[in-house]
Amino acid sequence: MSIFENKEQEFTPISKLGEFGLIDLITKEVKRYNHTTLKGIGDDAAVIKIGDLCQLVSTDLLVEGVHFDLAYAPLKHLGYKAVIVNLSDICAMNAIPTQITVSLAMSNRFPVEAVEELYAGVRLACEQYKVDLIGGDTTSSTSGLMISVTAMGTAKEEDIVYRSGASEKDLIVVSGDLGAAYLGLQILEREKAVFMEDKNMQPDLHGSEYVLERQLKPEARKDIVEMFMEMDLKPTSMIDISDGLSSELLHLAKASGLGLQIYEEKIPCDPTVMSIAEEFKLNGVTCALNGGEDYELLFTVAQKDYDKIKANPNMTVIGYMLDKNSGTNLVSHDSKIFPLSAQGWTAHENKK
Ligand code: ADP
Ligand code: MG
Repeated sequence: MSIFENKEQEFTPISKLGEFGLIDLITKEVKRYNHTTLKGIGDDAAVIKIGDLCQLVSTDLLVEGVHFDLAYAPLKHLGYKAVIVNLSDICAMNAIPTQITVSLAMSNRFPVEAVEELYAGVRLACEQYKVDLIGGDTTSSTSGLMISVTAMGTAKEEDIVYRSGASEKDLIVVSGDLGAAYLGLQILEREKAVFMEDKNMQPDLHGSEYVLERQLKPEARKDIVEMFMEMDLKPTSMIDISDGLSSELLHLAKASGLGLQIYEEKIPCDPTVMSIAEEFKLNGVTCALNGGEDYELLFTVAQKDYDKIKANPNMTVIGYMLDKNSGTNLVSHDSKIFPLSAQGWTAHENKK
């Protein structure tokens, strides 16, 4: 009997658990049957031992109307981005991506030319990152477009970096700059709303090129992983920034069983992020903390390695790890302490 036929059964709305609660529920009774599974659920990618090397695997599903809006996301960009978000998860393990599979579900509203556009983006990402498209699945859908990419990569076991490896006093570092992708999305949403009001309106995108590119054509930081190898630096922990700096910091702290402190003034934001944020009556740093989709790397390094990163323009130290009892806090410009939260930092003052 299907559970839906059981009239006695009381149902729990998924919204009650939230994304992380739901993942916990469906994964808590998962058993491991193979000793080759070094890491299963709970990091950016799973780790499988094969001979002397490890295979990394990560998968993500993008759904029309939830993760993208075809009113402003060109299909070629969408194909590119769907690959990139997965390559980013492989890079977050300090590994080099090597292969992808791509699965599609499309409604009959999509012509052949749309599929060609989408795959032009997929192929471009493969070319840029030197990964091979090795398979996938194609099916019809009753509503919209869904695209699921699985990325694989390889690394030596001793080079793999997990979320859980940070130690007290390690420095917290981010690559690149943050907050731009979120503002790119705000601009696209604003221009879509203007266009819906008046179909003759042309979008006003002048001066927004950088944030739009960050939203529509993000990159995975494979170059940073290669830099680590050249510098002979192994981060102690790492995660990619897909859901906003705040949320990723909480993941690192939880996985490593530690607390941490970061400084508002250290968070790297492009100057255009600060000015565009103001246009939207937002704070650039809040966009970095809560926005997401930047696909930069957030990692920790031992203090002894500070000299290796201090002059690197791609890396910014934003704080350090503390013991668990110290909490997970942001120190503001005016030296107030705010606890970080996945939704953002709640603005109640703490004693210092
Ligand atoms: P990320 O943001 O890096 O893509 P997620 O937050 O999506 O990671 O997932 C967290 C962990 O939970 C990952 O290890 C992922 O593989 C696992 N996971 C997510 N959804 C499922 C599912 N439906 N079944 C099994 N594992 C899942
Ligand atoms: Mg990730």
